[in-house]
Amino acid sequence: MASVAHRQPRNAPRKYYVDNQCMFCHGCRHAFPECFGGEEKDVSYVIRQPNTPDEIARMQEVIDGCPVEAIGDDGDQHDWQTAPPTRYDVDSPPQPTHPEPKRPWWNFW
Ligand code: SF4
Repeated sequence: MASVAHRQPRNAPRKYYVDNQCMFCHGCRHAFPECFGGEEKDVSYVIRQPNTPDEIARMQEVIDGCPVEAIGDDGDQHDWQTAPPTRYDVDSPPQPTHPEPKRPWWNFW
């Protein structure tokens, strides 16, 4: 089972990821090249999160087909809430904003 503690750093932010158990069998890249990438002799990783119901269904098929269970889904935890949107996340929900703390007028640096 994939572990978010061993998540590859190159995964696109948000819920689906590949962890370091990947044995680069290329299965996910061939089955779903729109969302998985990686170098020829390297681990795979999620290059774009699925956005549509069809893509999410395909992602689940790829997760089920991974021979070492290296693809995970951490739900709405971790970087899902805090990562900035990527250029691929055009359909993502709005990210939470954190207003600047109020400072006295004389402390402007
Ligand atoms: S299917 Fe699993 S083991 Fe194969 S390349 Fe993808 S993540 Fe790695």
